[in-house]
Amino acid sequence: MKADIVTIFPDFFRGPLDYGITRRAQETGLAEIRVHDLREFTHDRHRTVDDRPFGGGEGMVLKPEPLFDCLDTMDLAPRDDRVVGRVRESVVLLSAQGQRFTQKVAAELASLERIVFICGRYEGVDERVADYLADRELSIGDYVLSGGEMAAAVIVEAVARLLPGAVGNEASTQQESFTAGAVKVAGGADSTCGSNGLLDYPHYTRPAEFRGMAVPNELLTGNHEEIRQWRRRRALEKTLRNRPDLLEGAELSKEERKFLEELAQPES
Ligand code: SAM
Repeated sequence: MKADIVTIFPDFFRGPLDYGITRRAQETGLAEIRVHDLREFTHDRHRTVDDRPFGGGEGMVLKPEPLFDCLDTMDLAPRDDRVVGRVRESVVLLSAQGQRFTQKVAAELASLERIVFICGRYEGVDERVADYLADRELSIGDYVLSGGEMAAAVIVEAVARLLPGAVGNEASTQQESFTAGAVKVAGGADSTCGSNGLLDYPHYTRPAEFRGMAVPNELLTGNHEEIRQWRRRRALEKTLRNRPDLLEGAELSKEERKFLEELAQPES
Protein backbone atom coordinates (compact mmCIF):
# COMPACT_ATOMS: atom_id res chain seq x y z
CA MET A 1 0.00 0.00 0.00
CA LYS A 2 1.20 3.46 -0.85
CA ALA A 3 -0.02 6.30 1.36
CA ASP A 4 0.46 9.97 0.55
CA ILE A 5 -0.32 12.39 3.35
CA VAL A 6 -0.86 16.07 2.52
CA THR A 7 -0.43 18.38 5.50
CA ILE A 8 0.80 21.78 6.63
CA PHE A 9 2.64 20.01 9.49
CA PRO A 10 4.80 17.34 7.82
CA ASP A 11 7.00 16.93 10.93
CA PHE A 12 3.97 15.71 12.88
CA PHE A 13 4.31 12.31 11.20
CA ARG A 14 7.92 11.74 12.32
CA GLY A 15 6.60 10.18 15.53
CA PRO A 16 3.35 8.32 15.09
CA LEU A 17 4.23 6.24 12.04
CA ASP A 18 7.74 5.30 13.15
CA TYR A 19 6.80 2.63 15.70
CA GLY A 20 5.61 -0.97 15.79
CA ILE A 21 3.66 -2.42 12.92
CA THR A 22 3.58 0.74 10.78
CA ARG A 23 7.33 1.05 11.05
CA ARG A 24 7.86 -2.63 10.21
CA ALA A 25 5.42 -2.41 7.29
CA GLN A 26 7.52 0.44 5.87
CA GLU A 27 10.82 -1.32 6.49
CA THR A 28 9.65 -4.50 4.78
CA GLY A 29 8.17 -2.63 1.81
CA LEU A 30 4.55 -3.54 2.62
CA ALA A 31 3.73 0.12 3.08
CA GLU A 32 5.29 3.20 1.53
CA ILE A 33 4.26 6.39 3.29
CA ARG A 34 5.09 9.79 1.83
CA VAL A 35 4.35 13.06 3.57
CA HIS A 36 3.81 16.18 1.43
CA ASP A 37 4.24 19.68 2.80
CA LEU A 38 1.29 21.68 1.46
CA ARG A 39 3.26 24.92 1.73
CA GLU A 40 5.56 23.73 -1.03
CA PHE A 41 2.63 24.12 -3.40
CA THR A 42 2.04 27.80 -2.66
CA HIS A 43 3.29 30.59 -4.92
CA ASP A 44 3.61 33.60 -2.64
CA ARG A 45 6.36 34.84 -0.38
CA HIS A 46 4.42 33.96 2.78
CA ARG A 47 3.58 30.44 1.57
CA THR A 48 -0.09 31.13 2.28
CA VAL A 49 -2.35 28.07 2.49
CA ASP A 50 -5.47 29.66 4.02
CA ASP A 51 -7.82 32.56 3.46
CA ARG A 52 -10.97 34.15 4.91
CA PRO A 53 -14.31 32.48 4.17
CA PHE A 54 -16.68 33.97 1.59
CA GLY A 55 -19.85 35.09 3.33
CA GLY A 56 -17.99 35.95 6.53
CA GLY A 57 -17.83 33.94 9.71
CA GLU A 58 -15.24 32.53 12.06
CA GLY A 59 -11.75 31.42 11.23
CA MET A 60 -9.80 30.68 8.10
CA VAL A 61 -10.24 28.05 5.41
CA LEU A 62 -7.61 26.00 3.56
CA LYS A 63 -7.40 27.31 -0.01
CA PRO A 64 -8.06 24.94 -2.89
CA GLU A 65 -5.11 25.83 -5.21
CA PRO A 66 -2.21 24.32 -3.20
CA LEU A 67 -4.21 21.12 -2.63
CA PHE A 68 -5.15 20.69 -6.29
CA ASP A 69 -1.57 21.55 -7.33
CA CYS A 70 -0.13 19.06 -4.88
CA LEU A 71 -2.35 16.19 -6.08
CA ASP A 72 -1.61 17.13 -9.71
CA THR A 73 1.97 15.99 -9.08
CA MET A 74 0.87 12.54 -7.89
CA ASP A 75 -0.05 10.97 -11.21
CA LEU A 76 -3.38 9.68 -9.88
CA ALA A 77 -6.03 8.01 -12.03
CA PRO A 78 -9.01 10.24 -13.00
CA ARG A 79 -11.45 10.82 -10.15
CA ASP A 80 -14.33 9.06 -11.97
CA ASP A 81 -12.26 5.86 -12.21
CA ARG A 82 -11.32 6.06 -8.54
CA VAL A 83 -14.85 6.68 -7.34
CA VAL A 84 -16.37 3.68 -9.14
CA GLY A 85 -13.46 1.44 -8.14
CA ARG A 86 -12.01 0.98 -11.67
CA VAL A 87 -8.62 1.64 -10.07
CA ARG A 88 -7.41 0.73 -6.61
CA GLU A 89 -6.73 4.31 -5.55
CA SER A 90 -8.62 6.62 -3.28
CA VAL A 91 -8.31 10.23 -2.16
CA VAL A 92 -9.56 10.69 1.39
CA LEU A 93 -10.37 14.07 2.92
CA LEU A 94 -10.20 13.91 6.71
CA SER A 95 -13.26 15.70 8.03
CA ALA A 96 -15.44 15.72 11.14
CA GLN A 97 -18.34 15.73 8.69
CA GLY A 98 -17.16 12.58 6.95
CA GLN A 99 -18.42 9.03 6.90
CA ARG A 100 -17.44 7.27 10.14
CA PHE A 101 -14.16 5.36 9.88
CA THR A 102 -14.73 1.78 11.06
CA GLN A 103 -12.94 -1.56 10.90
CA LYS A 104 -14.99 -2.31 7.78
CA VAL A 105 -13.72 0.84 6.07
CA ALA A 106 -10.18 -0.05 7.23
CA ALA A 107 -10.51 -3.41 5.48
CA GLU A 108 -11.77 -1.69 2.31
CA LEU A 109 -8.82 0.70 2.34
CA ALA A 110 -6.37 -2.15 2.98
CA SER A 111 -7.37 -3.66 -0.36
CA LEU A 112 -6.26 -0.51 -2.24
CA GLU A 113 -2.87 0.11 -3.80
CA ARG A 114 -2.75 3.80 -3.04
CA ILE A 115 -4.48 6.15 -0.63
CA VAL A 116 -4.02 9.91 -0.49
CA PHE A 117 -4.96 11.62 2.78
CA ILE A 118 -5.75 15.33 2.82
CA CYS A 119 -5.44 16.81 6.31
CA GLY A 120 -7.62 19.84 6.94
CA ARG A 121 -6.85 22.65 9.41
CA TYR A 122 -8.45 25.86 10.68
CA GLU A 123 -12.22 25.94 10.06
CA GLY A 124 -11.79 23.31 7.39
CA VAL A 125 -11.10 23.01 3.68
CA ASP A 126 -12.60 24.82 0.68
CA GLU A 127 -15.60 22.66 -0.22
CA ARG A 128 -14.44 22.25 -3.84
CA VAL A 129 -11.83 19.85 -2.48
CA ALA A 130 -14.58 17.56 -1.14
CA ASP A 131 -16.66 18.00 -4.30
CA TYR A 132 -14.04 17.61 -7.03
CA LEU A 133 -10.71 16.37 -5.64
CA ALA A 134 -11.43 13.88 -2.84
CA ASP A 135 -13.33 10.63 -3.42
CA ARG A 136 -14.59 10.34 0.14
CA GLU A 137 -14.61 12.19 3.45
CA LEU A 138 -13.74 10.19 6.55
CA SER A 139 -14.21 11.07 10.21
CA ILE A 140 -12.56 9.13 13.02
CA GLY A 141 -15.37 9.96 15.47
CA ASP A 142 -18.00 12.42 16.55
CA TYR A 143 -15.71 15.06 17.97
CA VAL A 144 -13.73 17.91 16.47
CA LEU A 145 -9.94 17.84 16.24
CA SER A 146 -7.82 20.84 15.28
CA GLY A 147 -6.48 19.11 12.20
CA GLY A 148 -6.65 15.96 10.09
CA GLU A 149 -3.14 14.78 11.02
CA MET A 150 -4.14 12.68 14.05
CA ALA A 151 -6.99 11.20 12.04
CA ALA A 152 -4.70 10.31 9.13
CA ALA A 153 -2.24 8.63 11.51
CA VAL A 154 -5.07 6.64 13.11
CA ILE A 155 -6.34 5.45 9.74
CA VAL A 156 -2.88 4.58 8.38
CA GLU A 157 -2.18 2.51 11.53
CA ALA A 158 -5.51 0.67 11.38
CA VAL A 159 -5.08 -0.07 7.68
CA ALA A 160 -1.40 -1.05 7.86
CA ARG A 161 -2.05 -3.80 10.41
CA LEU A 162 -4.54 -5.38 8.00
CA LEU A 163 -2.03 -5.69 5.17
CA PRO A 164 -1.20 -9.35 4.59
CA GLY A 165 2.06 -10.09 6.40
CA ALA A 166 2.05 -6.93 8.57
CA VAL A 167 1.14 -8.74 11.79
CA GLY A 168 3.01 -11.93 12.74
CA ASN A 169 -0.11 -14.00 13.31
CA GLU A 170 -2.63 -12.98 10.68
CA ALA A 171 -5.50 -14.78 12.40
CA SER A 172 -5.19 -12.31 15.27
CA THR A 173 -6.32 -9.36 13.15
CA GLN A 174 -9.23 -11.41 11.87
CA GLN A 175 -10.54 -12.19 15.36
CA GLU A 176 -10.40 -8.76 16.92
CA SER A 177 -13.13 -6.41 18.09
CA PHE A 178 -15.41 -5.17 15.29
CA THR A 179 -14.30 -7.81 12.81
CA ALA A 180 -17.25 -9.33 10.99
CA GLY A 181 -17.31 -13.09 10.51
CA ALA A 182 -15.37 -15.52 12.68
CA VAL A 183 -12.21 -17.01 11.24
CA LYS A 184 -11.76 -20.57 12.39
CA VAL A 185 -8.22 -21.31 13.42
CA ALA A 186 -7.32 -24.98 13.25
CA GLY A 187 -7.37 -26.49 16.76
CA GLY A 188 -6.74 -24.66 20.03
CA ALA A 189 -9.05 -22.59 22.15
CA ASP A 190 -8.94 -19.73 19.66
CA SER A 191 -10.89 -21.68 17.09
CA THR A 192 -14.34 -20.14 16.54
CA CYS A 193 -14.09 -17.54 19.30
CA GLY A 194 -13.31 -14.78 16.79
CA SER A 195 -15.18 -11.54 17.15
CA ASN A 196 -18.07 -12.09 14.72
CA GLY A 197 -18.96 -8.46 15.25
CA LEU A 198 -18.56 -8.54 19.05
CA LEU A 199 -15.91 -6.82 21.12
CA ASP A 200 -12.84 -8.93 21.82
CA TYR A 201 -12.81 -11.31 24.82
CA PRO A 202 -10.61 -10.47 27.86
CA HIS A 203 -6.95 -11.49 27.76
CA TYR A 204 -4.73 -12.48 30.71
CA THR A 205 -1.07 -13.42 31.08
CA ARG A 206 1.29 -14.50 33.88
CA PRO A 207 1.30 -14.35 36.86
CA ALA A 208 -1.87 -16.38 37.45
CA GLU A 209 -2.26 -14.64 40.83
CA PHE A 210 -1.30 -10.99 41.27
CA ARG A 211 -2.00 -8.86 44.35
CA GLY A 212 -4.91 -11.10 45.19
CA MET A 213 -6.33 -10.87 41.65
CA ALA A 214 -6.60 -14.29 40.09
CA VAL A 215 -6.83 -15.23 36.43
CA PRO A 216 -10.23 -16.92 35.84
CA ASN A 217 -10.02 -20.66 36.48
CA GLU A 218 -11.58 -21.56 33.13
CA LEU A 219 -8.46 -20.32 31.33
CA LEU A 220 -6.21 -22.59 33.36
CA THR A 221 -8.06 -25.83 32.65
CA GLY A 222 -6.40 -26.58 29.31
CA ASN A 223 -9.87 -27.61 28.07
CA HIS A 224 -10.19 -25.87 24.70
CA GLU A 225 -13.95 -26.07 24.48
CA GLU A 226 -14.41 -24.72 27.99
CA ILE A 227 -12.01 -21.85 27.24
CA ARG A 228 -13.75 -21.08 23.95
CA GLN A 229 -17.15 -20.94 25.64
CA TRP A 230 -15.84 -18.79 28.47
CA ARG A 231 -14.24 -16.33 26.05
CA ARG A 232 -17.34 -16.12 23.93
CA ARG A 233 -19.53 -15.39 26.97
CA ARG A 234 -17.18 -12.74 28.30
CA ALA A 235 -17.14 -11.11 24.84
CA LEU A 236 -20.95 -11.12 24.86
CA GLU A 237 -21.05 -9.61 28.35
CA LYS A 238 -18.57 -6.90 27.48
CA THR A 239 -20.35 -6.01 24.27
CA LEU A 240 -23.70 -5.80 26.08
CA ARG A 241 -22.16 -3.61 28.75
CA ASN A 242 -20.03 -1.27 26.60
CA ARG A 243 -21.39 -1.40 23.05
CA PRO A 244 -24.92 -2.87 22.95
CA ASP A 245 -25.37 -1.28 19.51
CA LEU A 246 -22.98 -3.90 18.06
CA LEU A 247 -25.19 -6.80 19.11
CA GLU A 248 -27.73 -6.04 16.38
CA GLY A 249 -25.23 -6.82 13.62
CA ALA A 250 -23.42 -9.69 15.37
CA GLU A 251 -23.77 -13.30 14.26
CA LEU A 252 -25.14 -15.05 17.33
CA SER A 253 -26.39 -18.58 18.00
CA LYS A 254 -29.73 -19.27 19.69
CA GLU A 255 -27.89 -20.14 22.92
CA GLU A 256 -25.95 -16.90 22.79
CA ARG A 257 -29.12 -14.85 22.33
CA LYS A 258 -30.65 -16.65 25.31
CA PHE A 259 -27.53 -15.96 27.37
CA LEU A 260 -27.82 -12.25 26.52
CA GLU A 261 -31.51 -12.17 27.44
CA GLU A 262 -30.66 -13.68 30.83
CA LEU A 263 -27.89 -11.13 31.34
CA ALA A 264 -30.18 -8.25 30.45
CA GLN A 265 -32.83 -9.36 32.96
CA PRO A 266 -32.67 -7.39 36.22
CA GLU A 267 -31.71 -9.53 39.23
CA SER A 268 -34.73 -10.33 41.43
N1 SAM B 1 -15.43 23.43 11.07
C1 SAM B 1 -15.30 22.01 11.05
C2 SAM B 1 -16.57 21.35 11.56
O1 SAM B 1 -17.24 21.95 12.40
O2 SAM B 1 -16.88 20.23 11.13
C3 SAM B 1 -14.14 21.55 11.93
C4 SAM B 1 -12.80 21.84 11.34
S1 SAM B 1 -11.49 21.18 12.28
C5 SAM B 1 -11.21 22.40 13.48
C6 SAM B 1 -10.10 21.25 11.23
C7 SAM B 1 -9.76 19.96 10.50
O3 SAM B 1 -9.53 18.92 11.43
C8 SAM B 1 -10.81 19.41 9.58
O4 SAM B 1 -10.79 20.07 8.32
C9 SAM B 1 -10.43 17.97 9.47
O5 SAM B 1 -9.43 17.74 8.50
C10 SAM B 1 -9.85 17.68 10.84
N2 SAM B 1 -10.79 16.97 11.73
C11 SAM B 1 -11.44 17.49 12.80
N3 SAM B 1 -12.19 16.57 13.40
C12 SAM B 1 -12.03 15.43 12.71
C13 SAM B 1 -12.56 14.12 12.84
N4 SAM B 1 -13.41 13.80 13.80
N5 SAM B 1 -12.17 13.18 11.94
C14 SAM B 1 -11.31 13.48 10.95
N6 SAM B 1 -10.78 14.71 10.77
C15 SAM B 1 -11.13 15.67 11.64
